[in-house]
Amino acid sequence: MSFLSMTRNIAENLFKGPSTRRYPKEKREYGLKSRGMIGIDIEACIFCGLCSRRCPTGALTVRKDQKEWEIDRLRCVFCGYCVEVCPKKCLAMANHYSPCVTERAAAVHLERQALRDAADAPAEGKE
Ligand code: SF4
Ligand code: SF4
Repeated sequence: MSFLSMTRNIAENLFKGPSTRRYPKEKREYGLKSRGMIGIDIEACIFCGLCSRRCPTGALTVRKDQKEWEIDRLRCVFCGYCVEVCPKKCLAMANHYSPCVTERAAAVHLERQALRDAADAPAEGKE
């Protein structure tokens, strides 16, 4: 490296600022189409189980009788297949990732549908 190019390099580095980000103070802005955390509009879900049957990593569990949908975020590989196959289009990928966890159990996220069906159903004996 010649003296001239070395001086230019030093001058550039003096004024350019750091190449790295000061995380967590400075967070990365992800693109709008980034494949991130899977979310669900649980009220629109019909608990058909298609997402869990098609998930290649077994990250999803659907319990129709309990009206529950569960995701193990540490198993998800962000393939987006569940979002694609959902007949109600109630799954979506956010453009950011889920928060870090220190225990495996903390990565399991459960959503339960409100028991509105029971409230909406006609009272016993009435039709
Ligand atoms: S595929 Fe969609 S509607 Fe079916 S259980 Fe999964 S999230 Fe619910
Ligand atoms: S994005 Fe892929 S790996 Fe993640 S829950 Fe959906 S189907 Fe499973």
